[in-house]
Amino acid sequence: MVDAQQVTKSFHGVEILKGVDLSVEQGEVVCLIGPSGSGKSTFLRCINHLEKIDGGELWVNGGMVGYRLQGEKLYELKEAEVARNRVNIGMVFQRFNLFGHMTALENVMEAPMTVKKVPRAQAMAEAKALLDRVGLSHRYHSRPAALSGGQQQRVAIARAMAMKPSLMLFDEPTSALDPELVGEVLAVMRDLARDGMTMVIVTHEMGFARDVANRVAFMDNGAIIEVAESKHFFSAPRHPRTRDFLARVQ
Ligand code: ATP
Ligand code: MG
Repeated sequence: MVDAQQVTKSFHGVEILKGVDLSVEQGEVVCLIGPSGSGKSTFLRCINHLEKIDGGELWVNGGMVGYRLQGEKLYELKEAEVARNRVNIGMVFQRFNLFGHMTALENVMEAPMTVKKVPRAQAMAEAKALLDRVGLSHRYHSRPAALSGGQQQRVAIARAMAMKPSLMLFDEPTSALDPELVGEVLAVMRDLARDGMTMVIVTHEMGFARDVANRVAFMDNGAIIEVAESKHFFSAPRHPRTRDFLARVQ
């Protein structure tokens, strides 16, 4: 589903990703953890075409057109191809980024109707089913300002799912939430994982990573320096920097 080999990315001459290797299989949940500034968000943004990589290879496929980004070849990707690939990738950010003037239902219906030209009645039926699934069947007609942070984030997840993505990316989806609202969002993500959704999740929720992730990857200073099955990752981290990090966050 995702295959990154020696991916590099610089901003203003400073190398932020210094050769990232990671593969994610279909149906797998990978949690990406690591210190602030290590490049986790940048890497997710590269997977989602929000940033162009400078070097290495990055493949994202499975249902969607496989694409190869390597040096100059990157620029051969046509806008239409990029757009087509991105439709298959859902992304949920720390801040919910909902459309403030639309209800929850309208937020979820928007992309299928405008991007995929799904008829309104079908988009509405699918959006309602998704809102039901994230526990918001009673809030179809609420605007974001009337919802709690946890409810907004669940709408954001439903909105991403509405495009029927083959891959979901989460960038610290619970970091902006009050502690008592974290659980309801993690429960929705757990449900998606159980359903076989392929997910890459940047998170500081170590308990969630231990329980839900198939594998955990530790990123430090622009590279993934340790990847292991979650139970091994937490019980027997091999790299000293992983051990240091875990000792600080757990
Ligand atoms: P955090 O845990 O704080 O979210 P992170 O691991 O997600 O950190 P990134 O956001 O990927 O880290 O940032 C890695 C480095 O890249 C930081 O030093 C950041 O300032 C820099 N950086 C990220 N995006 C840009 C950009 N668009 N322009 C310049 N520098 C950037
Ligand atoms: Mg980040």
